[in-house]
Amino acid sequence: MSVPSGNTELLKAQFKVFSSHVPLMYSIIIINAWALAFTFWSAAPVWLSVHIPAFLTLICAGRLVLWWRSRHKVPTPEQAHKALTRTNQFAFLLTSGLTIWALSLYPYGDAYMQGNIAFFLAITGLGVIICFQPLPSTAFIVAIVLNTAFVSYFSLAGITAFVGMALNLLLVSIGLLLMLMVQFRHFSGAVSAQTKLEAANRENARLANLDSLTGLANRRQFFTQLDTLFSEAGSRRLAVGVIDLDGFKPINDLYGHKVGDALLREVGQRLSDLADSKTFISRLGGDEFALTVADCPDDARLLSLGEQICAALRTPFVLQDATVQISGSIGLSVYPQQATDVQQLYERADYALYQSKRTNRGHALLFSTEHVLAIEENHRLEQVLSKADLETELAVFFQPIIDIRNQKTMAFEALARWSSPVLGRVSPDDFIPVAERIGLISELTCVLLKKALAAACHWPEDVGLSFSLSTHDISSSDGVATIAGIILSSGIDPRRIDFEITETAMMYDFKQAKASIETIKRLGCGIALDDFGTGYSSLSQLHALSLTKIKIDRSFVSGLHENPASYKIVKSLLALSSDMGLGCVIEGVETREELDALEKLGGILVQGYFYSPPVPETEIARFLPADSQIRKAG
Ligand code: C2E
Ligand code: CA
Repeated sequence: MSVPSGNTELLKAQFKVFSSHVPLMYSIIIINAWALAFTFWSAAPVWLSVHIPAFLTLICAGRLVLWWRSRHKVPTPEQAHKALTRTNQFAFLLTSGLTIWALSLYPYGDAYMQGNIAFFLAITGLGVIICFQPLPSTAFIVAIVLNTAFVSYFSLAGITAFVGMALNLLLVSIGLLLMLMVQFRHFSGAVSAQTKLEAANRENARLANLDSLTGLANRRQFFTQLDTLFSEAGSRRLAVGVIDLDGFKPINDLYGHKVGDALLREVGQRLSDLADSKTFISRLGGDEFALTVADCPDDARLLSLGEQICAALRTPFVLQDATVQISGSIGLSVYPQQATDVQQLYERADYALYQSKRTNRGHALLFSTEHVLAIEENHRLEQVLSKADLETELAVFFQPIIDIRNQKTMAFEALARWSSPVLGRVSPDDFIPVAERIGLISELTCVLLKKALAAACHWPEDVGLSFSLSTHDISSSDGVATIAGIILSSGIDPRRIDFEITETAMMYDFKQAKASIETIKRLGCGIALDDFGTGYSSLSQLHALSLTKIKIDRSFVSGLHENPASYKIVKSLLALSSDMGLGCVIEGVETREELDALEKLGGILVQGYFYSPPVPETEIARFLPADSQIRKAG
């Protein structure tokens, strides 16, 4: 008659249901006992008609209070088992006590009062048995104690009516117990179905919160976790980091999704290896990961964690099918220093990531107050640019690209200028990214390209035009078709035009970039890779893109005559371009010393302030031979 302890969920359910029956059960016992005692007040001694029921009431009230206190608690299976076992033992004692007490009154009453005792025992006993429906073992104990006492006592009394009653009680008890058994089987079946359902729901919830590729938490779980950490943070620092891989897309495109997936898995593993108990890593989607650092250390240590992560991502990945190298940039922001709510905390980390990718790719950057000002300025820029009259406010300046062997102008690079009536002159470094973000860049490119081509119409036939395209221009076939239409209707020989694209443009969507480049090349235009050396192009990518030129970034040119590292880089880039049969323009030449050094290295095409900054169309005649000015006038 012990309580089975194997099924923990069933134990908890038994505990819960029984605790809801406890008040009713003790109410029945106490009220019925006092009702019986009352009928014996004048007949039985006071210790039997008052003291004992009072003592039993106290005990029952004590148990009732104990159960009442634990009614909202969710017990552990061990606690539930202990409580139910104690109930078993207590039920035996209480049933015995009540029965003995009630039968002790028997000699003091007349026939009616004795009948009342039998009635009390039968009705209270059956009521209690029903209350023990979730605990069949206890119901059995109560039934056995009650019936044994009842049947033996009243049979001995030898009164036929009582013997009949004892038989009735026995039969009803057996029937009731059988019914309880059936009910209990349904009850335990329902509990086990519920347990299975809950387990399945928990598993579903777990899977819904998991990134199936890396096994890390997914985007949804990241934000749930962030909400929780934020609500618990109080005045403690909470950091959010957003990580974006540099160079993942070309690897995915070139080597296929199998390698891409393996790379993402390994990235997830490396990030997890660096996480401690307070750092929580998630994959937001694609090649974007995120982390939260609860109770985060000071800025310097947070940044050093960020740099550790970047260093781990820079280490080559030896995968089954290929060994690849990428890098990752991280934007970080910290509550409460740099954000007041969860959304701002995430957005600011994301903004820092964007800045880190723009200015210090492959490293960690912490959001700061300067960024707040920049965001406000950007917001204003967005608003003014979206309302600007591009046709009248935009202009194109030109910077000559010179052949240093004979000082001849080979081409001009077209550079956008925006003169806003509201903001004044705005640098293209500021407004081009804004135009890209607000989806205005295609319109901007069209206006600028038309203006540049209109100017180039007046130049000698052998002077080319170099025009920069943005990532967005080559990431859709519609954009390229529009550009092709503008070139064809300009009347200019497409072979005079070079389109400059940056490495990041190709990283965005390598396949589409390649297709766009091929379309442009079919027209006869050249393709120059701008800012070469600053990104992550591999030689195989360069080859796959069939470029015609590379432009060596000005960061390598500045002071190259006194900086051996820059000197070596420019030297090898020149050798590379010549080996691959590509033209090479060296950007940003500012001094005679730089020019001399480049000349010694065999550089031919040069662009930079040494010759001229970008100038308006009206000033370019001085870079052209005298006879071409006649052409311009004509
Ligand atoms: P970029 O393509 O690298 O353009 C060269 C930038 O370097 C120009 O800045 C030019 O003025 C500057 N520069 C040229 N020579 C020197 C030099 O000797 N020293 C130094 N320190 N700088 C030199 P700008 O005109 O402000 O353009 C900045 C960037 O804006 C460009 O970089 C390009 O990425 C973007 N951009 C400009 N015009 C356009 C355009 O029409 N379309 C697109 N998509 N982007 C453009
Ligand atoms: Ca350029």
